[in-house]
Amino acid sequence: MVYTTIKGFRDILPKEMPFWERVEAEARGLFKVFGFKEIRTPVLERTELFARTIGQDTDIVSKEMYTFQDAKGRSLSLRPEATASIVRAYIQNRLYHESGSQKLFTIGPMFRHERPQKGRFRQFHQINVELFKDPGPRSDADIILLAMTLVKRIGLKELSLILNSIGCKECRPRFRDNLKGYLVSVRDQLCSDCQRRAETNPLRVFDCKVEACKDALKEAPKILEFLCEDCRIHFNTLRDYLETLGIDYLIDQSLVRGLDYYNRTTFEIQSHALGAQNAVLGGGRYDGLIKQLGGPDEPAIGFALGMERVVMLLSEALEIETDGPDLFIATLGKEAEKEALVWAARLRKEGVRVELDYSPGGLKAQMRRADRLNAKKVLIVGEDELQRGKAVLRDMDTKVQEDVEITGIVEKLVQVLKP
Ligand SMILES: [Zn+2]
Ligand SMILES: [Zn+2]
Repeated sequence: MVYTTIKGFRDILPKEMPFWERVEAEARGLFKVFGFKEIRTPVLERTELFARTIGQDTDIVSKEMYTFQDAKGRSLSLRPEATASIVRAYIQNRLYHESGSQKLFTIGPMFRHERPQKGRFRQFHQINVELFKDPGPRSDADIILLAMTLVKRIGLKELSLILNSIGCKECRPRFRDNLKGYLVSVRDQLCSDCQRRAETNPLRVFDCKVEACKDALKEAPKILEFLCEDCRIHFNTLRDYLETLGIDYLIDQSLVRGLDYYNRTTFEIQSHALGAQNAVLGGGRYDGLIKQLGGPDEPAIGFALGMERVVMLLSEALEIETDGPDLFIATLGKEAEKEALVWAARLRKEGVRVELDYSPGGLKAQMRRADRLNAKKVLIVGEDELQRGKAVLRDMDTKVQEDVEITGIVEKLVQVLKP
């Protein structure tokens, strides 16, 4: 029996890692600059946490979660997204006691039992950023600035920022009722999912990918016309801040976000590189969630970046050269093998990247391997070299060879390799 990954899951292989590393390194560096701290929560939580926050009626909760009972009969789920877990951790660990806005990020796998398609997997990875305690709109502008800076730093091209406000619990019900009325009038043109959504959660029809539904929604009422005074001021002030920061955006009133807990600001960053429109990052404000989960009544905003899609766009757009080792040590004979092991240990202690063969074949084979590894230099040492007290150092670019005294060789190599 040969074992393979289960459907929708996959291995991320070493050749792909430079892209993952780049995305994570840029993110971590930037988050530090913006004052965000890392948090890691378990991938497994009580099912109820997600059902209550994301919404019982969402596709995520109703059909996409990996849910099972443990030995004690408790219903547990693999996290389908990060925000609910982070809010749970924020409340449980009383992080709200710290003064000022709390800024957290996490990087890790999420799980959804979706139909697998290109660039979409059942275990996928996200970078999540959450900012607690500030009602905005200044923090909204800062979060959006962080999001835009991040996708640019990562190397994504042809980006656009989509912005909307979905109002608050005061003004959204009016929009909802109005939309509901409209949906009744176009009911026949909607897909069966949307016909159901029209009853249970009309805003979700905007998430539908069916063309006929999109057409039917063209004349739908517009959320921004329904905003209350506070929401309108919030939105307009945010727009003003974005313009001040030099961030371009497009308003799309169908950007409503599929999850229950969002309010006011919603945004999405799309990349149009490679001729397709790809949403790479989505976020928004969720002021009621912390209280809903039993915490203090604090506002919050955040975003999530989908790493698989970003890595896919990056790997199609650019090549990342993987750096070879600074030095490859080629050896001939047992004595030289032993010496090389010691030198390698001391060089690595100095931060020099050293590679060698544990069971070396002939010199030719070792030189070929050094070449394949893209080693900058090769040190050749055999019985002869040990006897005359000099090893040979070869530069793999220029092919120039020079002798290096074996006495004090490590110090000399460090000088040459890490000047
Ligand atoms: Zn409002
Ligand atoms: Zn539909």
